[in-house]
Amino acid sequence: MERVHLRDVPVSTLAGRLRAAGIASADAAARRLAWCVHGAGVLDWDGLRAGLDLGREREAVLRARFRFGPQLAPLAVRESEDGTRKYAYGLASGDVIEAVLIRNRANRTLCLSSQAGCAMGCTFCATGELGLRRNMTAGEITEARARIQAATGERVTDVVFMGMGEPLHNYDAVMDACENLNCSDAAPVARKRITVSTSGLVPAIERFTAQRRPWRLHLSLHSAVQEVRERLMPLARRYPLPELLGALRRYQDLCAVKWVTLQYVALPGVNMDDAHVDALARELRGLRYILNVIPWNETGGAFRAPTWAEVKDFTTRLRRLSCPVKVRYSAGKQDGMGCGQLSAETVAARPTAGHMLAPPGIFTA
Ligand code: SF4
Repeated sequence: MERVHLRDVPVSTLAGRLRAAGIASADAAARRLAWCVHGAGVLDWDGLRAGLDLGREREAVLRARFRFGPQLAPLAVRESEDGTRKYAYGLASGDVIEAVLIRNRANRTLCLSSQAGCAMGCTFCATGELGLRRNMTAGEITEARARIQAATGERVTDVVFMGMGEPLHNYDAVMDACENLNCSDAAPVARKRITVSTSGLVPAIERFTAQRRPWRLHLSLHSAVQEVRERLMPLARRYPLPELLGALRRYQDLCAVKWVTLQYVALPGVNMDDAHVDALARELRGLRYILNVIPWNETGGAFRAPTWAEVKDFTTRLRRLSCPVKVRYSAGKQDGMGCGQLSAETVAARPTAGHMLAPPGIFTA
C-alpha cells in the first residue's frame, strides 16, 4: 500500500481513514491529529508522539499507512522596511518556492505559492519566466503556514494564493490545502479569508463553481482588450474574454458572490489608455465587481512602473464611467516581495534596502 503524507490528507477524510485502519474512537483521534498537524504545526513523528500521547501500537498502525515529516527546507528570510517578510524554502526536488507574510494592523496575510515556477508565462511576471518546475503538494503548501506561524508566533488571519504558480492549474492540491487551512479543529483561517487568484483557466473556474467551493476567487484580468490580454497573458489565446467573463458571471450567480474582485496590473503605455478604460466599462457591464488596480512592480524587462499621477489619472477616468476601482500597492515591493516579483531567487543575494533576518543555513523556521 502506498503511504500518503499525513499533511496531504484532507481533514474531512481523516476519520474515515483512521476507522479503516482499525483505530478506536476514530472521530476524536482525527480531531486531535488535525490539531497537531494543522493547528500546532507539528512537523515530525516525535512531535506527534508527544502531542497525541501515541502508544507504540497506534503509532505502528499510523506509520504503516502514513508518511510524516518535514517537506520544506528553510533557506532564508528577509524583512522589508514595512515589516513584510519573504521566506524561501527548498523542496525535496531541489526547487525553491517563496511565501510572503504581510503585516497590516491586526491582520497577518500570508501569500502562498502553489507551484514551483508557473506554466502560464505572463510576460510581466518574474515567476512566469521560470516555466513550470512542478506542482506543490497540499502538505507542502500548508507546511509553509505552519512554519511561519511557529517562527513568528503570529497567527495567520488571511491566506491568498497569489505567490508562485497558477493555483487552479494545481486544482486538487490547492483545494485540499484550502480545506486544511480552514479546518475548524486546527487554527482555522476563515472561509472568506482564503483567496484563490486565477489568471483565467476557464475549465477550472467552471469546476470551482460546480463544486460550490466556499473560498474567494479573484481573476487577474489585466486588460479587457483581447489582443493586449493575449500579449500579456498567453493563456488568453486559449480562453478568450467572452468565454472567460461568461464563466465568471456563472461563478458569481451560482455561488451567490456579491462582488468579484478583478486584479489589474497597471502598465503605462500598455493597458492604461482610453481604449482600455472604454473596454473595461463595456466588457464588464452587468458584472458586480471591484477592479483592483496594482501598479506594476519592477522586475526588469520591457515594462515600467507607473507614476502615482498616471495611476490617479487612470482610476479617475474609470470612475467617470462608473467602474468601481481601488488601488492596491504591494507590500514589500521595494524588496522584491510584491505581486509578480517572486522568482525563487536566493533572497540572500538580493541587494535591497530590506535586511536579512537570517542567512541560508541558519534560519530554521
Ligand atoms: S502572474 Fe500568476 S499566472 Fe501569470 S506567470 Fe505569474 S504566477 Fe503564473
